[in-house]
Amino acid sequence: MTAVGTYRVHTLCVGELYLPHDGAIMRDPVHCWLVEDGTHRVLVDSGMPDIAEVRRTLKVGGTGGGHASLVTALAELDLKPSDIQYVVPTHLHFDHGSNLDLFPDACVVLQRDEILHAIDSVPTQRIYYPRSIIIELLQRKRGTGLRLLDGDHLLLPGIQLLKLPAHTPGMHVPVITTTRGKVALVSDLGDHYRYWFPADRRATDHPKRFLADTFLASNIRSSGELEFIAAMKRVLEHADIVVPAHDFRIPKRMPEEWFAIPDSTAGDLAHVPPPTAGTTPTR
Ligand SMILES: [Zn+2]
Repeated sequence: MTAVGTYRVHTLCVGELYLPHDGAIMRDPVHCWLVEDGTHRVLVDSGMPDIAEVRRTLKVGGTGGGHASLVTALAELDLKPSDIQYVVPTHLHFDHGSNLDLFPDACVVLQRDEILHAIDSVPTQRIYYPRSIIIELLQRKRGTGLRLLDGDHLLLPGIQLLKLPAHTPGMHVPVITTTRGKVALVSDLGDHYRYWFPADRRATDHPKRFLADTFLASNIRSSGELEFIAAMKRVLEHADIVVPAHDFRIPKRMPEEWFAIPDSTAGDLAHVPPPTAGTTPTR
């Protein structure tokens, strides 16, 4: 057991999305994180709806999702949903803030701007905010079941939330203190290593040398490119390593596994394999 205020971070994989990308179909893993110090148990992001629902509403295929995937992933850590004290969705897109009804006794912690934006988002983002998430949040008891924030917030000693409006207007990024340093769960603020280290051959099969001293703003965003890059810079002023939401190479247990840049590009861009006998990618 680690000391109170010094955390361990467990990566939970709860499914995959198959997304159109440059004429191919790219696999994006969907993750949540269990953050614990032996006393406190915090879930960062709560996954996506069952893939059948994702396919029906967004016309996007994949695997997993829903209550079953999250309950199974928690059970692998000998935990039940009722063991979770705080749920911290980084933002309320469908693949980060679903399944909150699994945690009726936990406190959901969000930026006020995020819930307002989920209710009345910019037009291109509406489809990513399921109505079911908003209804679930409005039914929760304010204070004990739902805490709304207006900026940076110390959730617990060792867990700092940085408000970083860029990918969405009310996104926040947890920075977790471990025995080896601080880890930022950056979610979709650069959701693959290639956005954080765009010129580094270790991070991407497609390095861009002209981006050697900066970051690459990832594609879905509500802010401008300069604001997005400033938000990424601010993360690295507060953290030693970043963990992007949709990269296959992220550490599975921290601090035991600990790296800033992966040592292989395998999985940088993973494509849906061609169907073979007996396995048909669902799309
Ligand atoms: Zn995402």
